[in-house]
Amino acid sequence: MKRSAVRDRMGALLRKTMCLVSGLTWLACLAVPAMADCGTSGIKVVGTTEEVGVACEAVAGVGSYFDALGLPVEPRLTIEFSDKVEVSIGDGAHLPVSGCYDPEGQRIQIRRWNANLADAPRPWGLPWDRDAASSVAAHEVVHAALWVLLEGDPHRLAPAWHEFVAYAVQLDLMDDDTRERILREASAEAFATPESVNVIAYGFDPDLFGLRSYLFARERGASFIRRLIEDDVDFDLRGIDVWCH
Ligand SMILES: [Zn+2]
Repeated sequence: MKRSAVRDRMGALLRKTMCLVSGLTWLACLAVPAMADCGTSGIKVVGTTEEVGVACEAVAGVGSYFDALGLPVEPRLTIEFSDKVEVSIGDGAHLPVSGCYDPEGQRIQIRRWNANLADAPRPWGLPWDRDAASSVAAHEVVHAALWVLLEGDPHRLAPAWHEFVAYAVQLDLMDDDTRERILREASAEAFATPESVNVIAYGFDPDLFGLRSYLFARERGASFIRRLIEDDVDFDLRGIDVWCH
């Protein structure tokens, strides 16, 4: 990948709160009548009945994951499905993404799985279908849960560690056959060291970063994600400063 492409991806990460939706998409969202709460007062979902089901599955799956870790969490969120989700990468340019979490707006956007955009990314090369959208929804809900669990100090974890946790949980919640197949096809190996979890590795290849994160966490056992959140590890979770030139 060219250095400029890496820089663009880094920019996308660092500007991840800057999701932009076209005016037309907003109108489409407003026109969708379905609004649900997933049975909890803090969650609102805007989308079709099936999209609401996908969002609520993601919320339930992530909630059960953190419950099992002894870290119950109930983020306040609006989850919206849109035909197009983009992040700003500066100079008026935008990058299409599958999903996005905006911590300031407490909002998640997920690209509709029937949107059929030619330029849309497909995580791990998987078809962009209901299962893929559900998996990305879980990833974004993990970001929201993490924001709450870090209790007002989200920067205690470097951005790369936020992504590490989101991918590790996303892949843990994925069905075993799909996860093991994409791990095999990518010949992915766990990160060698905690210092390898950095924004360069994420920006260079987010899909591979996700797989390596999952494997790193799996090697260290079920409590590793909890220990990361509680800062009960013997390495620096703010990460190393990396600058590109
Ligand atoms: Zn993420």
